[in-house]
Amino acid sequence: MPSFVNPEKCDGCKGGEKTACMYICPNDLMVLNPDEMKAYNQEPDQCWECYSCVKICPQGAIEVRHYADLAPMGGYVQPMRGTDSIMWTVKFRNGNVKRFKFPIRTTPEGSIKPYDGKPSPGADQLGNGLLFTESADNAKATATPSDFD
Ligand code: SF4
Ligand code: SF4
Repeated sequence: MPSFVNPEKCDGCKGGEKTACMYICPNDLMVLNPDEMKAYNQEPDQCWECYSCVKICPQGAIEVRHYADLAPMGGYVQPMRGTDSIMWTVKFRNGNVKRFKFPIRTTPEGSIKPYDGKPSPGADQLGNGLLFTESADNAKATATPSDFD
């Protein structure tokens, strides 16, 4: 079930150029309505419920709609992000509540450069079967279909 934004809580990331949920969604689903300064999931059918937007939202404004066997019974799964950890609250449909705290990385948002070191495309790269983050040693350690012949 897709994520949705509670407009009562969303503050449009205070008018930043790119909101936190837009930055983090791997599927580019989150957009900001600039008139209302509220974000929304523009294509819920494409949401894979990765919870990235839920975890990053500084206002706790995003939730994921839960499945029919859980939500009508009052169950939910909701993370709350701190500076160095995320606290997950899981309420089961029998009323039991469990909380789990996990450390998170503390790399500043937007500071990661995923394409650093990527070779520029050129004829010499055409025959290179490696991914650009893959070393020849890693590639040797990876099983290929012929390994199972
Ligand atoms: S991250 Fe949260 S507060 Fe910021 S725009 Fe998205 S839903 Fe709104
Ligand atoms: S749950 Fe994941 S895929 Fe869905 S809108 Fe949020 S970040 Fe994007």
